[in-house]
Amino acid sequence: EVIMGTMAHTFLFEGGGVSALGGVHPHTIPNQPDGTVKISDIESAIRGNDIHFPSSRLIILENTHNRCGGVPITASYTAQVAQIAHINGMRLHMDGARIFNASAALMVSAKALVDSVDSVTFCLSKGLCAPVGSVLCGSEEFIFTAKRIRKQLGGGMRQAGIIAAAGIVALETMIDRLGEDHDRAKRLSVELSKIDALRIDVNSPYTNMLFLSLDHEMGRTAREIAIKMKEQGILIGVVGEYQFRLVMHFGIDDLGIARTVETFRRVFST
Ligand SMILES: *Cc1c(COP(=O)(O)O)cnc(C)c1O
Repeated sequence: EVIMGTMAHTFLFEGGGVSALGGVHPHTIPNQPDGTVKISDIESAIRGNDIHFPSSRLIILENTHNRCGGVPITASYTAQVAQIAHINGMRLHMDGARIFNASAALMVSAKALVDSVDSVTFCLSKGLCAPVGSVLCGSEEFIFTAKRIRKQLGGGMRQAGIIAAAGIVALETMIDRLGEDHDRAKRLSVELSKIDALRIDVNSPYTNMLFLSLDHEMGRTAREIAIKMKEQGILIGVVGEYQFRLVMHFGIDDLGIARTVETFRRVFST
């Protein structure tokens, strides 16, 4: 059994792969608005030695936490969770898809953010802008096992160097500029908060993403607004009946921010 938050990407957005392919039973506990799960909730989720129970083997944290607004998780919280995992003979995995965004926001090295975990994944795509690719890190023995499982799943690649080359460019040129994305997300949030029909969701943006909600009383759904925006050349992500998620990356420049604000204003004025 794996313990993770109800809003974890691994639980919500991976097609149930953890169970279907891993044979692992997810035990979800509530995510707090700051992306963490309560230490006391983790402690009570860990199973005792009873034949009725699955065995607790793993905890997963997510950093930054996507569905909690892209919030970064501190190294000290992660270390606390790691300690609980290790005391109980369990492992801690970090879903660090956006770990470099967390690093930029907290001004702490990515290495420090994952010091206490047993394994970590991060994406070369998304903020780091490679066209494809994610990296799994862990002990040599763990990676050997992972490679075998990847092979079983048909994930073996012979000419992976073509993809890795773009990943190296991402690592060498994209990490140091992530702060610009965070600044643009803040600027976008300030400008969009001036539009009456829009509400910036809880403390967003922490990093490179902005969650926005529509005033329900307006009677227009997020999908309707997204279609209007698209007609005027701006694509926006709809993540709920009345909610959007706007994400910054290298391809979104200052002009893009200005055009997005202008287009939102125009759509709401018609
Ligand atoms: C994108 C994402 C993943 C999965 O990334 P892959 O590219 O499929 O490896 C995992 N967790 C979070 C939080 C993500 O955003």
